[in-house]
Amino acid sequence: MDIIRVKDRDFKLFLPKETITARIAETAQRINEELAGKNPLFLAVLNGSFMFAADLMKQITIPCEISFIKLASYEGMQQGGKVREVFGLSERIDGRTVVIVEDIVDSGRTMLQLLDSLNTRNPAEIHIATFLFKPAALSCPLTLDYVAFEIPNDFVVGYGMDYDGFGRNLDQVYTVIP
Ligand code: 5GP
Ligand code: MG
Repeated sequence: MDIIRVKDRDFKLFLPKETITARIAETAQRINEELAGKNPLFLAVLNGSFMFAADLMKQITIPCEISFIKLASYEGMQQGGKVREVFGLSERIDGRTVVIVEDIVDSGRTMLQLLDSLNTRNPAEIHIATFLFKPAALSCPLTLDYVAFEIPNDFVVGYGMDYDGFGRNLDQVYTVIP
């Protein structure tokens, strides 16, 4: 089924599962090679990254830990900007190699704020592993170490990512039909 309906919009198949599986294996392989001996702590950002994190972690063969965090956003006082607070991080990260596991980087603001927040806890280094990246939407200086797929600036759903709460359970990625 290549066209699906989520809530009130139609989406077409964009990344089939075989493509996703193959690319995640490559991404994991790079992490296994580059972070060997560093006992990385993977921090998966809920909710969106849960499927990517599960599939990625099954292919990580080096000693590592994984934990889950959630970002709660609320309207900030300055310039109406969104402030995001980190919830659920019970591990100490000082001196650790941290790998943030994210579903999608769009403007990059979410990741930049998370980096700022984690950096106050003195980790040795922080890497970002994102399933999807929209280069055309990036609006801040951000280095992404592991990107499974660079995609166009269109709204996608599935494989953990939602449209208004729905579609996270889809096992492939779909793009909105305008
Ligand atoms: P950023 O702060 O990089 O602009 O936004 C990142 C967050 O926006 C992602 O973690 C995700 O929750 C949401 N997001 C950005 N683009 C998409 C998209 O195409 N589809 C879905 N479902 N969420 C998106
Ligand atoms: Mg996310």
